[in-house]
Amino acid sequence: MNEAQQCREMVELGRILDRQGLCPGTSGNISVKRKDGLLMSPTNSRLGGLDAERISRLDSDGRHVAGDKPSKEVVVHQALYAARPRVAAVVHLHAPWSMAVSCLEGLDHENVIPPLTPYYVMRVGKLPLVSYYRPGDPALAAAVGRAAAVSHALLLAQHGLIVGGRNLADAAANAEELEATARLFLLLKDRSYRVLSVDGIAELEEAFPRNL
Ligand code: ZN
Repeated sequence: MNEAQQCREMVELGRILDRQGLCPGTSGNISVKRKDGLLMSPTNSRLGGLDAERISRLDSDGRHVAGDKPSKEVVVHQALYAARPRVAAVVHLHAPWSMAVSCLEGLDHENVIPPLTPYYVMRVGKLPLVSYYRPGDPALAAAVGRAAAVSHALLLAQHGLIVGGRNLADAAANAEELEATARLFLLLKDRSYRVLSVDGIAELEEAFPRNL
């Protein structure tokens, strides 16, 4: 895909995520890695109303070279790319169910949501919790970089989700699966529920390797 096609795909996927109510107000941002840099949704933009001409372009040193000013959360995306070189696109959302889970007490910081369904295991797998830092704090990017060494999908405490994918459509589908499973987790957490077995998870990982 060339740069113009990738920008159009960002516009389209931004609309799809917005239609599902996953990016209230001007929250959430998406990016695509290119050989020569990064395409990023601009600061204060609504994901449902992106303009392909105004998508922020950054060079391979992270300098803003064209389009509108990038979201201040670009450093968090860059930290995830640096930790996981196979990730080619990143989606970060203040999606309501994930956000609700990220505010709970007593979460397992190593892996917040148990392996409830095969699609969750295939698309997310492990979900570490990143401690709370104010948006824009460089310490948040550093913490994301450390947690991303463990998984391509992270939950940011009291903030939302950030996930990588092989391409933008893949990253968006991973984010949607995480959000749907966060909702299931909240529905089930005070009941007795089953999780997939260790063997069941191993079977999925062999049949559908993520390689991210
Ligand atoms: Zn955010």
